[in-house]
Amino acid sequence: MDTLKKILIAILAISFMVFITFFGRLPALRKTPIAWLHRLLWIHFPNLVVSIDQRLTGGRVTGSLSWIYNRLMYDRHPTIVIFFLLIMTVSEYMYLPNIWPKIGLFTKFTASIAVIMPYVFLYLACSADPGYITRENHAYHMSLYPYDYTLFHPGNECRTCRFLKPARSKHCDVCKRCIARADHHCVFINSCVGYGNHHWFLLLLLSTCVLATYGGILGLYLMTSKIKEDYPMWTIWPAKDLEFSDYLAVWGWGIQGDISVGAATLLALLTSPLIWALFLYTLFLIYCGTTTNESMKWTDYKEDMRDGYAFRRPLAPNRPRDLRLEPLCPRWPSSPEHIILATQDAQPPGNDRNYPGEGEWENVWDLKSVDNLYDMGFWHNLGDVFFSDYTVDDGTGEPPAERRPRGRSISTKSGYPQ
Ligand SMILES: [Zn+2]
Ligand SMILES: [Zn+2]
Repeated sequence: MDTLKKILIAILAISFMVFITFFGRLPALRKTPIAWLHRLLWIHFPNLVVSIDQRLTGGRVTGSLSWIYNRLMYDRHPTIVIFFLLIMTVSEYMYLPNIWPKIGLFTKFTASIAVIMPYVFLYLACSADPGYITRENHAYHMSLYPYDYTLFHPGNECRTCRFLKPARSKHCDVCKRCIARADHHCVFINSCVGYGNHHWFLLLLLSTCVLATYGGILGLYLMTSKIKEDYPMWTIWPAKDLEFSDYLAVWGWGIQGDISVGAATLLALLTSPLIWALFLYTLFLIYCGTTTNESMKWTDYKEDMRDGYAFRRPLAPNRPRDLRLEPLCPRWPSSPEHIILATQDAQPPGNDRNYPGEGEWENVWDLKSVDNLYDMGFWHNLGDVFFSDYTVDDGTGEPPAERRPRGRSISTKSGYPQ
């Protein structure tokens, strides 16, 4: 029972730490205990260790530790990918040989698919080009998305790559390149998630969810069947005629009957909510027509708006445009109606910079009055993630450039952190 308790506590602790690490930085959870725990774990606790080390060894221990940490987090190397593969493969190695003789042909078939898919999608997500922008494909990436004049303004150059940043792109410090429709740099695939591999990343998450849930439920079912051989009256829930401690003891007995299957089942059951949450969050951002990178920019804007630092004025649909800075995007059906800027001093932007747009600047007080140009509705957003050069066909038969601007208002969804 002691071994079991230790395994259980270790699995719980690991799941909790991973949860805090993943979700603590999400803008949507900025003012929750999860963000607070994230700061405790990743800022306050390391700072405490550093200050103790400064006193004891002059900072030598933490100096080398932070070197290792920086190599791990900010250099490209497959350590975390190998760690992920190891956890998955070792769990399967502990689990599969023991359950294989006990399951039917159909279950064997579906289980094989569930086991293989995460490997396939992991390979595809890691090896696909996430959307590196090069001199050769720069013009193509410039024509993919229009500038929304809110998060992305034309004419900004990447100081490292030395070309104009296409709308929705971001320079990744780890990959050391600009990534088209950059979502985030993911250590689990040792690559960025962007225009070229977002769909593989989504399928990797989904297949891992299916594997963990399937493994957990199948393991639970097999354990229950085994317990029932000795306790025919046993039910998973509610614990009929049993004290809760006895109920737990029967579970412990069931898990110990086959500790490797029991441990793998527990790991699967405890991690699957986390992986589902990650998958649903990724899907939710797609539903909102945004990326992780953009959702952070929206959060900053929201604060600027609330504090009175954000201003806008109309952009004429037929405004003159410099095609070298802002090429046409024939596949995208909407164009910006306003330019929105945040200033440093809560005063409207001056006339010295020759900003586009016409008329007086007015305050924008919240995101509800702002359109997200990149949100075309869930199915079109998903199409854009899955197919390159996806063209929105809304059945009007009009060529995209002729249509009215129609980015949906952010207020129609609560996707952006409120
Ligand atoms: Zn760059
Ligand atoms: Zn990257």
